[in-house]
Amino acid sequence: MTSVATAISLVTRAEAEAAAGTCSADLAKGPWEFDAAEALRGMPAYGPGASVADRAPASTPRQGQLPEEYKQASDDELHARITAAKEKLGDRVVVLGHFYQRDEVVEHADFVGDSFQLANAALTRPEAEAIVFCGVHFMAETADILSRRDQAVILPNLAAGCSMADMADIDSVEQAWAQLEELFGTEPDAEGRVPVIPVTYMNSSAALKGFCGEHGGIVCTSSNAATVLEWAFERGQRVLFFPDQHLGRNTAKAMGVPLEQMPMWSPRKPLGGNDAATLRDSRVILWHGFCSVHKRFTVAQIEKARTEYPGVRVIVHPECPMEVVDAADEHGSTDYIRKAIAAATEPTVFAIGTEVNLVNRLAAEYPQHTVFCLDPVICPCSTMYRIHPGYLAWVLEGLVDGEVRNRIEVPADVASTARVALERMLAARP
Ligand code: SF4
Repeated sequence: MTSVATAISLVTRAEAEAAAGTCSADLAKGPWEFDAAEALRGMPAYGPGASVADRAPASTPRQGQLPEEYKQASDDELHARITAAKEKLGDRVVVLGHFYQRDEVVEHADFVGDSFQLANAALTRPEAEAIVFCGVHFMAETADILSRRDQAVILPNLAAGCSMADMADIDSVEQAWAQLEELFGTEPDAEGRVPVIPVTYMNSSAALKGFCGEHGGIVCTSSNAATVLEWAFERGQRVLFFPDQHLGRNTAKAMGVPLEQMPMWSPRKPLGGNDAATLRDSRVILWHGFCSVHKRFTVAQIEKARTEYPGVRVIVHPECPMEVVDAADEHGSTDYIRKAIAAATEPTVFAIGTEVNLVNRLAAEYPQHTVFCLDPVICPCSTMYRIHPGYLAWVLEGLVDGEVRNRIEVPADVASTARVALERMLAARP
């Protein structure tokens, strides 16, 4: 199977097909073209791909210039340099590759998985001095929170953030919390339940995980969101769920919470754009955040797949909008999707609603099935795509030379409260 990067470069070379084949011809360029401060002027900071139109906050990290030798190196040369650096480093380094990474990076990973699986995988390598996280910023932060202080967590390209995580910043969440405390007070009801429990999705900054740790809240993943909401409802009258409205809505709806009891909190409006009565009656207050990769999936795409492949099994990620989840046969985390395909005993057609790099890899891994992405346009996660083999070679060769490049360090006070919220999640596991 052709990798996503190769497919993009082929499509963008064939000008007539370019518009339909990929969401941006700029994806064929090296990510360093978007990292240079000069190039960023007038260009979106998330770069080409699904998040291209998202508003990047001023605090979005910038990546300095990659040395010319890495930009000019051929794919084969980069592959050889990464392999050689890893061999020299041996057990001193562990490379983690997220499911959504490009194939040319994933092939060098010691572990491949979702963000939480990878952070836990790193714990199985206590001898590693460096953890190179080929994912996005919040994932590297989580790995840093869970690893030893003397282990360096490295993000090969600092511009690999997450537009969804950036939609809920700590200042906006603290402002929302102050307004909710003013409205509800802080006293528990007769059953001992506090007015609001904050719940943050794993896809959020360490500061938000720390906020939840400090305020009786908890972290969830897309695999355990229902278990975590049950935990929160036992302790609170309602939940403030951030940053992904869709995961919150899809999960709470499946648990029987009516839509009218799930108001949206828009961070720049008083009371999040709600009236006090609506908030008083709420069970889950949803932050106005979303993933631009999963927002691309539509009911029309599902209908088309059903027409073209009668009997197709449609599985989508719970970060997709509610109507897409409702129209699908199943929904679940990346791990759920992977296991569902692996468990199918008869040749099956699967239409999948998640990031295209993972879908293409599953298609190659399970040739007995037909596996395709619901979105016909190749539009990878903008920020995952910023991790190019050139950056991986650069950070690994830095380690060989004794230099730690692009270290991600969560301040100790934030890490300790964030760990509390993560530990609550682990304890809530059914
Ligand atoms: S796929 Fe969506 S949630 Fe995941 S890193 Fe990309 S923008 Fe963030």
